[in-house]
Amino acid sequence: MNIPKRLKQTKLAERLKVSWFYKDYRRLKWCFQYGPSRIKYLLPGRLWVDKVDVCITTKCNMRCDGCDHLIPYYKEPAHLDKDRVIASIRKLDEASDRIFHLNILGGEPFLDPDLKYILEAVPSEKCDVVQIVTNATIIPSDPELIDVMRRKKVVVLMSGYSQTERSRSAFIEMLTREGVAYHVYYPVWTDFGAPQDYHHDQKELKRQFFACKESCHNLRDGKLYACFRNSHGSALGLVPCGEDEYVDLLNNSTAENRKQLRRLIWRHRPLLACQYCLRGTADNVGIVRGKQLKK
Ligand code: SF4
Repeated sequence: MNIPKRLKQTKLAERLKVSWFYKDYRRLKWCFQYGPSRIKYLLPGRLWVDKVDVCITTKCNMRCDGCDHLIPYYKEPAHLDKDRVIASIRKLDEASDRIFHLNILGGEPFLDPDLKYILEAVPSEKCDVVQIVTNATIIPSDPELIDVMRRKKVVVLMSGYSQTERSRSAFIEMLTREGVAYHVYYPVWTDFGAPQDYHHDQKELKRQFFACKESCHNLRDGKLYACFRNSHGSALGLVPCGEDEYVDLLNNSTAENRKQLRRLIWRHRPLLACQYCLRGTADNVGIVRGKQLKK
């Protein structure tokens, strides 16, 4: 699936990069990353979910400038209801044949005392990768939590913020001792902009949506949203969200969920939230993240 660099630089390739073709190509590339055997999930009637973030809390002990999930905008951050989180994970499990990549995410997920119960509900045998995404400032000590992380083959994904280096080293030491996998990543963070109307016209919006490399659906409060931006933005009342931009997992039958999930995953139309976002535009510039540590 890797395209030679020479071909990528042609005019045709440039045009394809801002078309539905490239959006679908990236999804398929993601699928094949887990091996050619994944091709069976492309057969008619099968349903795979490429990437899903399960939001379990909006509490965070950092207030990063430019947090793309808009967490610092929550005035009253809270842990999400454990039973609803678990029920929605079960509904997603029932409705899908494969989940390639499932992230447990916040805020900061290690702040949530219910993390171990939520992890128990994760269908790890159906997932290629299960990750907990953390800022590596809170080192868990509950043996039950560590045990479930091991059993569910969780990878602890740590953001490589420079100011958390010390706690990260202690965290890595603990995970190594306990036999839990981890990975430190140093992504190039980019500015998605404040959640405000950027007045992109329809043509720009389409280009933006196809050029946007985000493929993470967001499971929050019983609903699977097309993107974390329309999920948190709509919860905060700062960004509109259309009725066809999420799947109400808890209130649908399994058949309805399958139908709507397929439509959501292969969506070719911009979201209302794209109007309130800079991702996929020339203004989506690099930034330093993890700057402000809450006292
Ligand atoms: S709101 Fe639109 S442009 Fe922004 S990250 Fe989501 S899909 Fe991409």
